[in-house]
Amino acid sequence: MPAPPGGRRPVCDGCRRPLAGCWCGCIHRVDNFTRLLILQDPDEQGQAKGTAALLRACLTQAELRVGRHFDSPVDLDRHVLLYPDTPGDGKVAAPSPWPPARIAPLSLVVLDGTWRRSLRLLHQNPWLQTLPRLALAAPPASRYAIRRARSEHQRSTLEASALALAQLDGDAVRYEPLWRAMDDFIALQRRLAGASADTRRDVAR
Ligand SMILES: [Zn+2]
Repeated sequence: MPAPPGGRRPVCDGCRRPLAGCWCGCIHRVDNFTRLLILQDPDEQGQAKGTAALLRACLTQAELRVGRHFDSPVDLDRHVLLYPDTPGDGKVAAPSPWPPARIAPLSLVVLDGTWRRSLRLLHQNPWLQTLPRLALAAPPASRYAIRRARSEHQRSTLEASALALAQLDGDAVRYEPLWRAMDDFIALQRRLAGASADTRRDVAR
């Protein structure tokens, strides 16, 4: 693996992360039916714990765009926005599955960013506001009990998308590899956190 110019740490050719944090081993491929369009706030890019790039790498039909302003897709009527129910904003959550997905694949639009950044993307791109919205049905409690106690708003982009795609396609089995990807990614983050704690202890000695 060649070191990049400038003496920086070598990065992986696959995921573009420093080699120690390479997540290529976490990729579990899924041949998704509903397509995925991830719109990522630039502030989210480069976040080591972000899951959007891994999610894109796992799916055969996925696109990741980074920016604040995005062009409306030509087939806008085939797009659904993953967005939580927002009482009082006048939008009605789309029924699930929405609409008959078997005729032609839909595209699920996911906003990758904090709650505040996602809201900003929504306001800065009026076409997003015209889309039918999909809110997640409550996930099985057991799944989350063994994972982490995370609230609806803390769910990662990968987890939220895995649930939404399974919901839209009515096919949870197809998207099981995404949960393995998430488990491997969490394990990697823990290893990295442990390694950096060891380093701090060594320095303190
Ligand atoms: Zn990698």
